Amino acid sequence: MQYIGRFAPSPSGPLHFGSLIAATASYLCAKSVQGQWLLRIEDVDKFRIKKNSIKRILQTLESYGYQWNGDILYQSQRTEAYQQALDSLAELAYPCTCTRKFLQRQVSIGAYGYIYPGFCREQISNIDSPQFAMRLRTNNKPLCFEDSLQESLCQDIETEVGDFIIKRSDAMFSYQLAVVVDDAYQQISDVVRGSDLLDNTPRQLYLQQCLGYQQPTYLHFPTAITEDGKKLSKQNHSPEVDDAQKRQTILRTLNFLGQQAPAIDHFSSLEDVWDWAIKNWNRDKIPAQMTLPENYPD
Ligand code: GLU
Ligand code: ZN
Repeated sequence: MQYIGRFAPSPSGPLHFGSLIAATASYLCAKSVQGQWLLRIEDVDKFRIKKNSIKRILQTLESYGYQWNGDILYQSQRTEAYQQALDSLAELAYPCTCTRKFLQRQVSIGAYGYIYPGFCREQISNIDSPQFAMRLRTNNKPLCFEDSLQESLCQDIETEVGDFIIKRSDAMFSYQLAVVVDDAYQQISDVVRGSDLLDNTPRQLYLQQCLGYQQPTYLHFPTAITEDGKKLSKQNHSPEVDDAQKRQTILRTLNFLGQQAPAIDHFSSLEDVWDWAIKNWNRDKIPAQMTLPENYPD
C-alpha cells in the first residue's frame, strides 16, 4: 500500500514553531519512504479563522521548502461530504438540545473534558428548539489502539467522553467528523501529528468504524513544551517562525525530533538540509518528550 501522509493546519493564526515540527515530522515520514504528503487546511470552524492566515501558512510552507503533492483540500469546501457522512450514520446520530449552561450544571468532568451522559438520546422527536447539535451515540466497548510511538491507549468512549458532537448547534461540523471524513477521502494511510491530539484518536477510530472506513496508522510525536511546561501553541502566543533563518529553523525541528543533524555550516542551502533529512530520517530517534532549549525564543 502506498504511504500517504498529510499536514492539516488550522488557520487560526500563522504557523508557529510547534506547527513546523508537525509539518517536518509528517513530511519526513512520507518523503523518506517515497510516499505522498498532502496538505489540508482545516478551516471547518469559520469563527476561528484569522484573516490572512491561510495565505501566510502557505507562504511559510513554501518558503521553507516543504513540497506537498496534489491540490490543497479546504475543509470549508467539504460541507456536502460531511453532511453525507452524517446522513449515513442514520440512527447513530441524534439531535441534542442541551444548552452549554445546562451542561455546565449537570455533567461531570472527566480526563478528557465534560462527559455527556446521553440526556437527549431518547427524545428524538422532541426538537422544537431552533438550534440543536448532532451527537454520535457511543458504546462502552473499550476502544484500543497501538500508536507507532506512544503507549497503546484504550478509551471507553461512552463513559469517559460520552456521545460526542459531530455537528454543532451553529450548524458547523465538528473537528472529529471533518478529520475522519477527510482522512478517508484523501486516502491517508498514516497520520503523524502531535501527542496533544492523542486523546481524540479513539473517537476518530470509532467514527471510522461507524462510517465503514479503513483505519490509518497513527504516530503521535510528543508535543513540544516550553520549560515551564506550557504547550507551544498559538494560544500562548508562541512567536511566529523567523523567515530569515530558514535553514536553522528546519535544523531545529530536526533536532527536536531527535535526528542529530549536523551543524548549519555543513549545509550550503535549504535544499541540502532537506536532502540530508530525507536520507537520514529515523523515526525511532524521536524522543519520548521534547523540551525547548533555554534560549527559546531567540
Ligand atoms: N488541524 C489540527 C491542528 O492544527 C490538526 C488535526 C490533525 O492533525 O488531526 O492542530
Ligand atoms: Zn442533549
